Amino acid sequence: MAVPKRRNTSSKRNARRANHDKVAAPNIVPCPNCSAPMVSHRVCPACGHYKGKAVGKAPAAEEK
Ligand SMILES: [Zn+2]
Repeated sequence: MAVPKRRNTSSKRNARRANHDKVAAPNIVPCPNCSAPMVSHRVCPACGHYKGKAVGKAPAAEEK
């Protein structure tokens, strides 16, 4: 296993972490079915639709 030869300076470490260790915010888009905010490429939590079709369990408000 490769082992680092030298310890990085704190400025090197901080410069690396400044841009590479960030957590990206989830991509929030309006649902095409109910226009509620939802994470893209996921089933809508408000209406249970995905790609224009009802999939999985729809919430109680939709079933009534
Ligand atoms: Zn929806």
